[in-house]
Parts: sequence; C-alpha cells; structure tokens
Amino acid sequence: MTEHSNGGRTAIVVGGGLAGMLAVTALLGQVETVTVVERDRYPEGRGFRKGVPQARHLHVLLSGGRHALEELLPGTVAALGEAGARGLYLSRDLLTRTPTGWQRRFDERRHLTLSVTRPVLDAVVRERVLGAAAGSATRVEVLEATEVTGLTGDASRVTGVRVRPRDGAPGARSERELPAVLVVDASGRGSRTPQWLAALGRTVPHEETVDAGIAYATRMYRPKDPATAPDAGINVPGWPECPRGAVYVPVEDGKWLLTMSGVRGHHPPTDAAEFTAFSATIGDPYIHELLDRAEPLSPVHGFRDTRNRRRHFERPGALPDGLLVLGDAACTFNPVYGQGMSVAALGALAVRRTLTDGGGLRYGITAEAQRAVARAAEPAWLAAVGADRPYASTGDTKAGLGERLSTWYLDRLFARAAIDPVVGAAFRDVFNLTAPPTRLVAPRIFLRTVFLPRRPGLPGPPAAIEAV
Ligand SMILES: Cc1cc2nc3c(=O)[nH]c(=O)nc-3n(C[C@H](O)[C@H](O)[C@H](O)COP(=O)(O)OP(=O)(O)OC[C@H]3O[C@@H](n4cnc5c(N)ncnc54)[C@H](O)[C@@H]3O)c2cc1C
Repeated sequence: MTEHSNGGRTAIVVGGGLAGMLAVTALLGQVETVTVVERDRYPEGRGFRKGVPQARHLHVLLSGGRHALEELLPGTVAALGEAGARGLYLSRDLLTRTPTGWQRRFDERRHLTLSVTRPVLDAVVRERVLGAAAGSATRVEVLEATEVTGLTGDASRVTGVRVRPRDGAPGARSERELPAVLVVDASGRGSRTPQWLAALGRTVPHEETVDAGIAYATRMYRPKDPATAPDAGINVPGWPECPRGAVYVPVEDGKWLLTMSGVRGHHPPTDAAEFTAFSATIGDPYIHELLDRAEPLSPVHGFRDTRNRRRHFERPGALPDGLLVLGDAACTFNPVYGQGMSVAALGALAVRRTLTDGGGLRYGITAEAQRAVARAAEPAWLAAVGADRPYASTGDTKAGLGERLSTWYLDRLFARAAIDPVVGAAFRDVFNLTAPPTRLVAPRIFLRTVFLPRRPGLPGPPAAIEAV
C-alpha cells in the first residue's frame, strides 16, 4: 500500500455503527483523516435509528467484549454505567434454566456482562470515539445520511468508495467518489462487499452459513413495584425438546427487556396478547409469572435473519489490498449467544494491534489485519455453530466429525456446568470469549464432564447465592 495523490492518508469507514466507530479507534494515529460514511442521520439524544433494526432487541455485552471495548476506549465501561447500563455477574445475576434444571447461583465475579439498550450503548461509544479523536493527531469526520454504493479501484487494489447523499433535493443526490488509502467495511449484516468485489472483477469470497432458523420478538417492560422485581435477570434458553426460549433482563432507567426466540415452527408472535401467551410455552413458567407484575412500555418488535454466516475474507488472495471487513459485515452469529458486539470489539482491537505491531499502513498489512480479525471471531463461531448444529437446515455447511463430537461434548458440559463450579467457570470463560475453546477440554474439565454422572439442576429459580 502506498500513499497516492488522491487518497493521501485518508481512511474511509463504511458504516458508523458499533464496529465502524470501534474501527475509528484502531485508526487513530495511523492516518491523517478518517471519514466515516453513515447511511442514517443519527437521532437526537440516544434514540433508535433505522439502520440498526436489531437495536430494539436485548443486547448484552459479554465480559470478553467489555475488556476489548475498555482497551480500545478507556473509560467507556464507566461511562456506560453512568448512562444506566446494568452490570450482571455470571452466574450470580442471571438465573439460567437448563434442560436439566436451574443453574446454581455461584458468586464467582469473574464475568461482569453489561445489559443496556442498544441505542444507549451505541451513543455512548460514538461520543467517546469522537472525544478520543479530538485529542489525537487524526481528524475524524462523519458524513451522515450518505450511502456507500460501491468501491473504486481494480482487482488488485481498492482506492476509495462511491457515495450518494440520502437526503436533500433529488438533483443534489448524485454519486461522487471519495479516494482513500484504506477502506474498512463495517456496514453490518447487509454488507454488499461480495457484490462490490465482483464488480471489481474479483472472485466472491467463500461463505459459510449455519441457520437454526431462529426468530426473535422483544418487548420492553417496567416492573409495577420495583421492590418485588427479581434481583437478577432470567434466562430460559430453548433446547431440542422445547426449542423456544426467553431472556428477561434489567436495562437502564428501571426498565426490563424481554426477548423471546424460537426455531422454525416455534417463532414468537409479534401480536401483544399472543406474545404474552407464548411466554407460558417456554421451558419454564417463571418469566410468564413475572409478566403479571410488569407493565409493557412498548409494542412487540420482531426480527428474523439470525443465521450464523461468515465470509472468508482472510483466505489468501480473498481481498484486494486496501480493504478490510469488520463486525457483522465479516461474521454474524445467532444472537442468542450474545457475541456479535464483543466480536466486533475484539476484531477492532486485533486491527489496532496489527497496525501498531506491523509498522502502520503498508502494502500487505490489510491481509494481515483481516487474518487477525478472523482469528478473533473463531472462538465465537465455533461455539455458536456447535450449539446450533442440531437445528441447522439441510442446505447449510455440513458438520464434520470434529464438530459432531464437540456438539455431544458441549451438551454434557452444559449440563455439568449448571451444578459444578469448576466446569461452570470454564464454560463461562469460553462463552464470555475470555479463554480459548481449548479450556473446555483441559484435563480437569474433560474428566469432570465425561466421567461424573449427569445430575439434575435445581428444581426452581435459586434465591440463594453460593460462595465459591
Ligand atoms: C436480534 C439481535 C440481537 C442481538 N443481540 C446481541 C447481544 O445480546 N449481544 C451482542 O454482542 N450482539 C448481539 N447482536 C449482534 C449485534 O447486533 C451485531 O453484532 C452488531 O450490531 C454488529 O455491529 P456492526 O457495526 O458490524 O453492524 P451494525 O450495528 O448493524 O451497524 C452497521 C451500520 O452501517 C450502516 N450502513 C449499512 N450500509 C451502509 C452503506 N452502504 N453505507 C453507509 N452506511 C451503511 C448502518 O446504517 C449501520 O449504522 C444481536 C443481533 C441481532 C440481530
């Protein structure tokens, strides 16, 4: 990669959502200017916007993502706390019903996850990114209400993007080119990078999908009497015999979000009365009972495209120089595992480290950075597709022997984790993306998982917190 007269030292980030904003932090000090091109106009305050439709649904930031976010943007976790984000220690503050009974409530305090509505999270991150940029050598500008429509360059190098304003008089909406030395696609699950690459004459990168066919429906509530609200969130995931689940968690301002989900044939309804009725059909009645003590604050919002999908941009020769793909644009996950935002943060951190350790922007560095992004997503991918395989549709990528074995093993491990603090701690480390999956097959964990008998969990939601 060389500086070129038009692109100078400008990087363009496509999409000013979470991954896009975190990409900016990775580029501070590396280029003179970062131009973020965002299709939406940001709302006044901390409101919902059209470009991130999933923002209506429950979003938990796992502790692995929380660490990455804090490393990228120090002070952000405290700022989220000030904005009302609730910290939930696992397993103490999230009561979980497993197929074998309720999980014991260990006071482990190793994994603090954050529960907050997505508009608040995105706004706090955006404010802090722009604040960090103001104190850096890099100028950051955001082109709101502007859509990227394609890439410029050729099959070997991307030299910028084509953009089109989304509002203004029709005559003012003509396309123009923005040159750049680096383009980062962070445009989310609807990314058009494969089509844009094809238009440059490149082969479209290999894509894998595993689709459990899950649909989401979410509604916001406020407990009628905060004194009788539960002292923890509640998680009743689906399992093969009852593939309907729900998570009910506190967010900012005394509000609670209830997200329900179900695989094909079990999709949660978006009609308010039917939604409430559906909550009685999940694997445990506790959440349904709690709804009697809460008033709804919103309509029910649905969401359907929840497949796991990764595009192998990291494979040799998959991308032209000067292009990087981050966040959901590279890899999306079944959201029930709560991994996407964490993977976006881990990916941005991987880019920053690659640029810092690799001597900054130079020819070949985007390929290295893309490999680091893919490595950062791998543990989450293995966990999500391992768990989803039993529900996957026939057209999906087939599971190999290794993946089938890991599905069997994870099933046993999940049951054990509900009652065993040692196995539970390993399970939480991996599912929070703070330890590699190999932690689940460490000798001590393997022996306890395979040889100790399967025992049921607790018969009801535990009130008692157990010291470990
Ligand atoms: C229902 C649901 C629930 C989820 N729950 C969780 C959870 O609990 N925990 C978790 O970690 N993750 C969760 N996720 C995943 C999480 O939402 C994503 O991983 C995360 O939003 C990815 O960030 P992103 O910036 O890549 O994409 P987005 O947040 O989708 O942002 C993309 C941005 O790009 C803009 N854009 C798109 N196209 C263009 C264009 N052509 N030009 C300019 N701008 C463009 C959009 O307007 C948007 O601002 C959930 C996802 C879903 C669907």
